[in-house]
Amino acid sequence: MSIAVYPGSFDPVTNGHLDIIKRAARISDKLIVAVLVNSAKTPMFTTRERVEMLRECCAQFKNVTVESFDGLTVDFAKKHHADVLIRGLRAVTDFENELQLAQINHALMPGIETVFLATGLRWGYLSSTVVKEAARYGADISRFVPKNVEIAVREKFKNQNQ
Ligand code: ADP
Repeated sequence: MSIAVYPGSFDPVTNGHLDIIKRAARISDKLIVAVLVNSAKTPMFTTRERVEMLRECCAQFKNVTVESFDGLTVDFAKKHHADVLIRGLRAVTDFENELQLAQINHALMPGIETVFLATGLRWGYLSSTVVKEAARYGADISRFVPKNVEIAVREKFKNQNQ
């Protein structure tokens, strides 16, 4: 049984993330989407909000669960008996950082392999950051994120601007 973990900030989840989730779910028996609590970045959404949004989006995938975690990704993976870490690669700019992460994770826990999935052509330019930037200035983000996320982002900015 192959158990995979897809870690990230997911602040918020985008269609690019969902594309990776869908494809990773196909090649693993069980996929755990792991939302990082203590990232260096200050998130727009709380951990709970990020987990909730992901759970709504992932309800359609029967072998996918969503959890939050704090600490090392490899420790989370080991605790859940996972043998694979999934990461998405968008462009060469992602590569250096992702290679370093995969290598440190391998050094820390040699039994766990990182598998990179190439971003679907449609989503190569997409990141949570650009979605938030676009929304901040009133752009329509409906092509980039699922409906529940679009509504949540709009609400966030409405509350911030009040
Ligand atoms: P992190 O802060 O760990 O980079 P992100 O939520 O930004 O967390 O990304 C989580 C993972 O999803 C990373 O592997 C990232 O490369 C990947 N990812 C982000 N955006 C996309 C996208 N548009 N298409 C495919 N993969 C993506």
